[in-house]
Amino acid sequence: MTLDQHHALGRLQDELARLEALRANISQDLLDEEYGVERELSLLDQHPSEIGSEVHDLERDQAIAESVESELAEVRAAIGRVEDGTYGRCEVDGEPIPPERLEAMPATRRCAAHQVEADRA
Ligand SMILES: [Zn+2]
Repeated sequence: MTLDQHHALGRLQDELARLEALRANISQDLLDEEYGVERELSLLDQHPSEIGSEVHDLERDQAIAESVESELAEVRAAIGRVEDGTYGRCEVDGEPIPPERLEAMPATRRCAAHQVEADRA
């Protein structure tokens, strides 16, 4: 493994740890909020708009949880590419991804030009 790959692996493992901690927090929040919603719905004289905001928070957290899951999948895939030696190359054209892009987005799988195309598709 080259120094660059070693560096990338360190960055990816930090990112993995950060996302897993985030995911653990969110699932705890989701549990708390589900209980919260049940408790509030069981109260009489509950103001409807307050129930609405609880449900809204729950949906927001679920959306965040989904995006954390997909980021985790990307980071794990990138770690796999470091291990099999294909890390740091654009998956579309096989060209090296510029180091500054990898530094900013260690889990990226495409060069900037092909990322734009993928986002458009
Ligand atoms: Zn490319």
